[in-house]
Amino acid sequence: MFTRSLAGSDTQLNQKSYYEASVQRPASCPPLEGATVADVLVVGGGFAGLSAALELAQRGMSVVLLEADRVGSGASGRNGGQAIVGYASGQGPFEEQLGKADAQRAWDLSVDAVNLIEQRIAVHGIHCDWRRGYTYVAESAKKARALREEFDDHNTRGVACEWAEGADVARFIDSRRYVAAFRENTSGHLHPLKYALGLARAAQAAGVRIHEHSPVTSLDRGRTLVARTAKGQVTARFGVLAGNCMLPEYGPRVAPEIAPRIMPVGTYIIGTQPLDPALCERLIPGNAAVCDNNFVLDYFRFSADHRMLFGGRVSYTTMTPPDLKGVMARRMGDVFPDLKAVPVDFVWGGFVDISMNRAPDFGRLGDNLYYLQGFSGHGVALTGLAGQMVAEAVAGQAGRFDLFARLKHHRFPGGPLLRTPSLALGMLWHRMKDAL
Ligand SMILES: Cc1cc2nc3c(=O)[nH]c(=O)nc-3n(C[C@H](O)[C@H](O)[C@H](O)COP(=O)(O)OP(=O)(O)OC[C@H]3O[C@@H](n4cnc5c(N)ncnc54)[C@H](O)[C@@H]3O)c2cc1C
Repeated sequence: MFTRSLAGSDTQLNQKSYYEASVQRPASCPPLEGATVADVLVVGGGFAGLSAALELAQRGMSVVLLEADRVGSGASGRNGGQAIVGYASGQGPFEEQLGKADAQRAWDLSVDAVNLIEQRIAVHGIHCDWRRGYTYVAESAKKARALREEFDDHNTRGVACEWAEGADVARFIDSRRYVAAFRENTSGHLHPLKYALGLARAAQAAGVRIHEHSPVTSLDRGRTLVARTAKGQVTARFGVLAGNCMLPEYGPRVAPEIAPRIMPVGTYIIGTQPLDPALCERLIPGNAAVCDNNFVLDYFRFSADHRMLFGGRVSYTTMTPPDLKGVMARRMGDVFPDLKAVPVDFVWGGFVDISMNRAPDFGRLGDNLYYLQGFSGHGVALTGLAGQMVAEAVAGQAGRFDLFARLKHHRFPGGPLLRTPSLALGMLWHRMKDAL
């Protein structure tokens, strides 16, 4: 069955993660047993759920967070660590649906989202290797024209950027693959699992009760919500669903109406052995995170211990591509010939929750059940803000949350069985365009 293989692939993809290998996880939080009551139930212990739980508790509400596996074991603990301004969709859906003024508001919120990371790191003392600096690159003249538009747009919207082309690109990246680049110092990068575990500690310190290994399998709705796990239940006045692609896997009946609006897309990362710090500084001066502007993009950066973490490659069928390590290492060698012979210690991946228009999909079911999904590969920063906004909405100030809730979303065509193959076909077209 499709659903089983997704959960199976997902667990398997986290086995050789650099992030898991480079943290000391605390002892597991106990699974939920018996019945309990809270003001708010949060489903999912990724950035979105942890952020919501922390903010709700800081507003004086009692919060129970249920996590199917371990905190940060989903996309939040495995991603490229790139905290980026803007949206995967670009500004298009915001301008078309909300108008120019609110689209700019949404852009400004994406900048707030990055700043929120830095604030939380400072307030909660989270050591997660955070640093600012981001470089966008293009590998053809056609892509360079699109990049220039992005550069102009960033500058117009208030994120100052520096442009380079031709030989000048070497100021930002030592790779002959790229013909143009721009750099800004608002976006940045971090060790995502250290950050997730730091958020979990902060949430617990604020009073959140976290239960790991506690998948929510059903949820009764009404004036109060009742969520059930294998051995317990939570009754709550409000709920926040932050389960990403795995929500329908663990609890197919929890929110079936929102599941068809996102699609799980696999994306993968390799981690090399530690490199000479001088080589790292030569390859990416100033230690920025880097991303190209292809439809199927390469995204990469150095870790704090000087490993190249090189992400890219996608699977629209949810099946892990064959010879992943070899394919990714070759791709990395094409970008940085100096790294061709460097041993690769880690290879891992996970699923991104893309919405049809790549804009975030936040909203309410009834008047007391909120959901956050559709981060579309741009969730490192936005999840934190989303959690903060959902807490404001629960506390009765829905302004910022409703800006996003006004965006309309469509189901992927084809239902659970056909949407994946039809998306795969569509993506082939975009990959062909990348190659032109
Ligand atoms: C390989 C990879 C690279 C990426 N790179 C970047 C990047 O560089 N920059 C960027 O901005 N974004 C990136 N992303 C996307 C980003 O990681 C996500 O958008 C973000 O982490 C989503 O956070 P979340 O809290 O919504 O979901 P998750 O972190 O997936 O958390 C959801 C949690 O809910 C739990 N859950 C699900 N169902 C249930 C249930 N029924 N009961 C209890 N618990 C449940 C899951 O176990 C999971 O832990 C990447 C994603 C991947 C996979």
